[in-house]
Parts: sequence; structure tokens; C-alpha cells
Amino acid sequence: MRKIIVVTGASSGFGAMTARALADAGHAVYAGMRETDGRNAAAAKEFEEYADTARTVELDVSQQSSVDGAIARIVDEAGRLDVVVHNAGHMTLGPVESFTVGQLASVYDTNVLSTQRVNRAALPHLRAQRDGLLVWVGSSSSRGGTPPYLGPYFAAKAAMDALAVSYAAEVAPFGIDSCIVVPGSFTTGTNHYAHAGHPDDEATRDAYETATPGMMDTLLARQAALSPEDADPQEVARQIVRLVGLPKGS
Ligand code: NDP
Repeated sequence: MRKIIVVTGASSGFGAMTARALADAGHAVYAGMRETDGRNAAAAKEFEEYADTARTVELDVSQQSSVDGAIARIVDEAGRLDVVVHNAGHMTLGPVESFTVGQLASVYDTNVLSTQRVNRAALPHLRAQRDGLLVWVGSSSSRGGTPPYLGPYFAAKAAMDALAVSYAAEVAPFGIDSCIVVPGSFTTGTNHYAHAGHPDDEATRDAYETATPGMMDTLLARQAALSPEDADPQEVARQIVRLVGLPKGS
């Protein structure tokens, strides 16, 4: 059955792949992006070829007004909303003791509080339909085996894990499922520690390296060990397509 789906953080990585894969599977997809022009113009343009099955929507998960506007637009245009994919996220690097409370809060906001903003806007519609699915993009890091220097991110993903499980228990009576996928390490954006667009700028990394010699070598060795052949990020998108296609309550 064709579902109306919103994917957050669909300008790159898993989010873009998942939005495209869901559209290819015949669903009606809203690819959420902080902005659909400016630095995301090229990403947004890629969805133009989908015409009927996917379109972009401005959706900044850090702003409740942006989230509310996006969900209202989707329900207005499509008449309903069936699936929310909580994908937006970001990772920050550094020795865990070096983070200010504000930096920790920023990672927590993008990965965790953002999902609550979206849920509070979306769930009234799903509950009224007595049907729906929440998909959370967590991380295997929240289940142990965590390498160093990624502490705030791991803590946030562990919190997301707990929130997803709490939702699963509480929304089930309203006909809504909540499922978390927990990818391992893939060569998409969050794992590109040194690329130009990463939120951690060079000066910050240099400061960390001075404080903790060897930190960047450790991280970059881990990044280099990720092989696209061994870990195809499209598998995450395929897994989400399978989840969306499962019968309710599976
Ligand atoms: P990307 O950096 O490619 O994707 C992250 C996306 O989140 C971007 O589209 C980014 O948008 C978006 N985003 C960040 N902040 C906001 C915001 N305020 N509002 C809307 N969108 C926002 O990385 P990945 O594809 O690797 O990561 C996607 C998800 O997968 C994340 O939740 C990540 O934690 C998770 N994950 C990744 C793993 C990996 O190995 N790569 C492993 C396990 C989980 P913008 O372009 O505007 O910055």
C-alpha cells in the first residue's frame, strides 16, 4: 500500500538514500531539508525527477515552527501522514571531558529533542487515523563497543534508543508502530570526520589534537577502515523500505 512518508535530514546520506528508495518503492515521500535552496539546492534538485512520488519540504528539526509548518503542509496536501523517519542527526568529535554543556546540548538537540518536536506535530494525525509508523535512525554505538572521542553522539543515540522503545509501548494501543534501526559504521556524512562540511571545523580539531595527541589519527584510521564494499549504506535505506512494507504490529 502506498504510504505518505516524511524523512528528516534528507539532503544527504542515509536520509537522501532512504527518501529515494521509498519513492522508488511507490510511496509518496516528503524529503525534509533545513532549506531547499542555498547549500541544499543541488540535493533538492535531485528530487525533481521524482515528480509524483517525492518532493522536498523545508523542515528544520531544531525549530518547532518549521516542523509544525512542514507537517501541516504535508497533511494539507496529501490528506494524511503515515510514516515519520527520524533521520536528521549530527556527530561531534573530541575528548568527552572537553565538551561544554552547550556543545553537548547541541548534539542532544539534533539527535533527540528534534524527534520530540516532530512527534508532537505528527502524532495527533497518526492517532486520529489509528494508523502509522515511527522509524528512528539510531546507531549501533548505543549498544556498546564504542570507540573513543564520540561521546556526546553516543550518549544522544542511547537516549534516542530509549525514547523509541518508550514510544513503541505507548503508541501501540493507537495503532502506531515505533521501530529503531541501528546502523553500524558507514561512509556517509556523519562518519566523514575531515570533510569540509563537517560541523567540527579545522581549528576545533586542531585544538583537540593539541589537547589529546593522536586523537585525529585514531578517528581517521577508523574512517579509513570503513569500506563502501563491505558496508553499503543503501542497505540502511533498503531496511527502512522493508520496515515500511511490513504488516502493522510485526
Ligand atoms: P549526513 O551528514 O549525510 O546526514 C545528516 C542529515 O541530517 C543531513 O541531511 C543534515 O542536513 C541533517 N540535519 C542536521 N541538522 C538538521 C536540522 N536541524 N534540521 C534538519 N536536518 C538536519 O549523515 P548520515 O547519513 O551518516 O547520518 C544520517 C543519520 O544516520 C544520522 O542520524 C546519523 O546519526 C545516523 N547514523 C549514521 C551512521 C554512519 O555510519 N554514517 C551510523 C549510525 C547512524 P544538512 O545538510 O542541512 O546539514
